[in-house]
This record gives sequence, structure tokens and C-alpha cells, in this order.
Amino acid sequence: MKNIYNYTLEELETYFIEQKEKKFRATQIYEFLYKKRVKSFAEMTNIGKNTIDNLKNNFTLNRIKFLLKQEDKGVKKYLFELSDKQRIETVLMYHNYGISICVSSQVGCNMGCKFCESGRLKKIRNLEASEIVEQILYIEEDIKKRISHVVVMGIGEPFDNYDNVMKFVKIINCPKGIDIGSRHITISTCGIIKGIEKFILEKGQVNLAISLHAPNDTIRKTIMPIAKANPLDKLMLTIKKYIKTTNRRVTFEYIMLDNINDSKECALELSKLLKNMNCYVNLIPYNETENIGYKRTKNSQIMQFYDILKKNNINVTIRKEFGSKVDAACGQLRANQNIGG
Ligand code: SAH
Repeated sequence: MKNIYNYTLEELETYFIEQKEKKFRATQIYEFLYKKRVKSFAEMTNIGKNTIDNLKNNFTLNRIKFLLKQEDKGVKKYLFELSDKQRIETVLMYHNYGISICVSSQVGCNMGCKFCESGRLKKIRNLEASEIVEQILYIEEDIKKRISHVVVMGIGEPFDNYDNVMKFVKIINCPKGIDIGSRHITISTCGIIKGIEKFILEKGQVNLAISLHAPNDTIRKTIMPIAKANPLDKLMLTIKKYIKTTNRRVTFEYIMLDNINDSKECALELSKLLKNMNCYVNLIPYNETENIGYKRTKNSQIMQFYDILKKNNINVTIRKEFGSKVDAACGQLRANQNIGG
């Protein structure tokens, strides 16, 4: 049995054509799943009995299971259980421009970033596209509102699960389905060059964010082991190629870690590195966790860093802080439930 939420519209069309059914069935099914949000095949009322039986015999509508929710002003954080009892988390945020959701793409993560809670729990497996789609379905149904923006920035490295993440994007982007516009979807990577190269070939409108976190390899390698196999010079060349090919602006995420990457020299070096690039920098106040020793940079110093970038004509914002009260840093809810990986 296959999970029907794993199917793109095209794949479902192929399925029906192979079954000697009308291709149009796929659109009808998609609308039942994603517009009407039925929970069983029996609710697909204007579809013939043979087709319904066919679906019942070949597909499931199983969903991820909701476990718990934490709420704070403007943010809700959900913990889900998958069919093999693994757990993942999803964060919902209310903004003035809409509602965004931060989805997980793997159970655990192998990238090993030293400051990150998710990285302490090694990767157990990739998520199926359906398991990422279902995070959105559950939360939309819970809040009874449409989600406008999706960021793949939860647990996991999306480019270490490339095919499933791209399939997920296709499914939620489909106008007959959840219909979230490509420009409202952002994939965040720690800088896997091979993944970015593949992503360039997609020629889509999906946004790319890079977790940079340091202006040079010396610092980067101490906090992000993947910097060894993905050196900064090559990474920057690949990103420039992405910008040139897609004509899209890239976001650089930069966590502010006290005494590690937050000096004036770092700000100047970062300005030089990004000079004249079509990009913007998002400075992220580090969300401290009790399991990891890094401290957050003082606000005054974040402001100083910000000012240096500004003076050097780099577009920069400081991330609005959400949910430090609700264990909202990546992987914290799962970690604090003592659910090891
Ligand atoms: N693997 C992807 C996406 C998941 S991490 C990536 O690296 O981009 C999403 C973002 O949260 C990354 O920028 C990551 O570095 C950051 N992050 C991880 N732990 C954090 C913490 N404790 N406080 C603030 N940001 C954190």
C-alpha cells in the first residue's frame, strides 16, 4: 500500500492512465485530498465505485500523528509521531505578511553543526514527501487558516534528502492541491554544493537560503563540519552561479554566537565576501540550549555587527525572535521530550 500524499498530480495521472482510467481522475482526487480535505476514499462522492475500490486497495490516507503543541505569542510548535514512532517537529509563525510554517525534512540530521540541537541527534532516516506534506495539512486544519509561506528549515538537511524535498515542493505548489506559490517556499541548506548545483538545474522560483554563519573557512570549519567537504570559495562560486542563472536573491543566515563569529573583523570580512551580490543577510540571535555551550551575542553587539554590514551596503535584517519560550530552536522540542535519536 502506498501513501497517496506521496504522489504528485503527474504521478497520479500516470497511475490512472496505466489503470485504463481517465487522466482527469487524478485532478478530481487531488481536489478531494487538498481542497476538500477528505479523510477517507469513501468521502470522494462523485467518483465511481470501481475507482474508489481501486484506490482503497492500493493506497492509504494515513497521516502523521499529532502528539503535542506548545504556544507562545505569534508561534505554535507541534510535535508529531510518524508511523514508525519516530518524532519530528514543525513550527508555525504568524507574521504581518501571512502565516509561515517551518517543516522538518529528516528524522535527526547528519550535518553535525556544533551549535544545533538537531545535529546532536544523528539522522535516523529521511522523511517521505508525504510526511512533509502532512505537516502542512495537519496545521492548516488545526488553525483553520491557509498557510502562506513554507520554509524547509526544521530538523534535517533538505539537500541530504533532495528528491523527497523536491517532490514535496511539487506537491504543495500544485494549483489543484495546496497551491503554495514557489516564491513563498524557501529551502535552507547548510551549504551542500552538490545540492545547490542540482537546485540550479530545476530552474524554479523556489527561494534558497544558505546557513553561512561565518565569513571564512577557519571559523566555519570549527562550527560546521560540512565546511570541510564544502569549502567557502567553491560554495560562493556555486551561489553566484545560482544567482546568475535564476536571477533570484539569496538569503544568508548568520547565527550570532558570542565570541565565535560576532567580532567587528567578522562583520567586515562578511561585507567583503558578499559585496555586490544579490543577497541579504539575516542575523539570527542564537537560541541558547542547555545541552550546548555556545552563548548568544549581546544585543548591542548584534546591532554593531548590523551597522557595519549596513554601512558596507549589505542588505541585512535581524531575525524577529519567536518562541524562545517554546523550545522553538530547531530540534529543541523533540530533544526536551527525551526522545533520543
Ligand atoms: N539544515 C538546514 C536547515 C535546518 S537548520 C540548514 O542548515 O540551513 C535551520 C536554521 O536554524 C539554520 O540556519 C541553523 O543553522 C539554525 N539554527 C540551528 N540551531 C539554532 C539555534 N539554537 N538558534 C538559532 N538558530 C539555529
